Amino acid sequence: MDEKLQFGTLAIHGGQTPDPTTGAIMPPIYQTSTYVQPALGEPLRGYEYARVQNPTREAMERNVAALESGKHGMAFSSGMAAIEAIIKTLSAGDHVIYEENVYGGTHRMFTMVMARFGVEFTRVDSRDLDVVRQAVRPNTKLIHIETPTNPMMRITDLRGVVKIAKAAGALVAVDNTFASPYNQRPLELGCDMVVHSSTKYLNGHSDVIGGIVVTNHDDVAEKLRFLQKASGAVPGPWDSWLVLRGTKTLHVRMERHNSNGQRIAEFLAQRSDIEAVHYPGLPTHPQHELAKCQMRGFTGMISMELGSLERAKKVVQATRLFSLAESLGGVESLIGHPAIMTHASVQKEIREAQGVTDGLVRLSVGIEDVDDLMEDLDRALRA
Ligand code: PLP
Repeated sequence: MDEKLQFGTLAIHGGQTPDPTTGAIMPPIYQTSTYVQPALGEPLRGYEYARVQNPTREAMERNVAALESGKHGMAFSSGMAAIEAIIKTLSAGDHVIYEENVYGGTHRMFTMVMARFGVEFTRVDSRDLDVVRQAVRPNTKLIHIETPTNPMMRITDLRGVVKIAKAAGALVAVDNTFASPYNQRPLELGCDMVVHSSTKYLNGHSDVIGGIVVTNHDDVAEKLRFLQKASGAVPGPWDSWLVLRGTKTLHVRMERHNSNGQRIAEFLAQRSDIEAVHYPGLPTHPQHELAKCQMRGFTGMISMELGSLERAKKVVQATRLFSLAESLGGVESLIGHPAIMTHASVQKEIREAQGVTDGLVRLSVGIEDVDDLMEDLDRALRA
């Protein structure tokens, strides 16, 4: 695919070719577990077994790789499986530095699963590059960043982290779930891997669990493909097809998520009944300038401090259009309480030190008409 094509064109055409058997413009859902071999040891076009190869999955992998300006896409059965696969490219005794305000499930998997296999982890506030630099050890192999973070919307200077990693001989992986490739493309900033929960903005319709890693390194891609085969946490063809259907409208949806997010963040920021609004698109966000340097838009993700658990509970139960639910990035607006929901697996002292208090509420602003959304929030906040 011509690299000069713009994002919206890539969203629709990136990595796509008509189906070779019929010319179908959408890749068929190859709902099969295996492929008949014409002769022993001579599979037709290389297809042997669907854990290893599936044309529907490959079409989606190529499309997301194109959107992230990457050469290789490797899809997994969830965002967690994708992040876990990255860690499984390492070995016991290797060291990982990671941003402390990552999604709670990432922290849980690092500390409660992979640490048992001898991989070492250090949590850092990666907003401070000196802290990242000081955490480097001779055995540091990976720096795992999430930016913006879930749910505090912290921003890490990706170009700065790349410099530190290069000097240390380590790779940088970025969880780009919150931003989406429409708003931020870490590979273009020098990072080595991008990972997504495709459950979120990529799919965008709250009907799939999935994950994907994109890289330009042939050797890293080979290791991840081996893990698709050896560990087997791959998405089925139907889910792959749904993600591909989603990515074709990513640019249109993200424009609206960005504009709705900005309007709602501004609307919340001027209210006296909210203690703080965390949104990188607000000039009051401490890293607004940095966010502008590495992001094109600021998404529909916002968190706000309401001061107490009681008030937070009232508000999350009072909205009508914002549904109380886990997850984010779908066309419909959601509201959640990180301390009890997405970050329940993070120890209270750790999460509170980062601002994930009992009064913090997170919004995933959808693509509905923004006036209706503001009215819904206004009513709930007054309740
Ligand atoms: N990364 C981020 C930033 C997330 O918010 C999530 C889930 O909420 C994940 C990864 C995990 O993805 P999944 O739920 O698809 O396993």
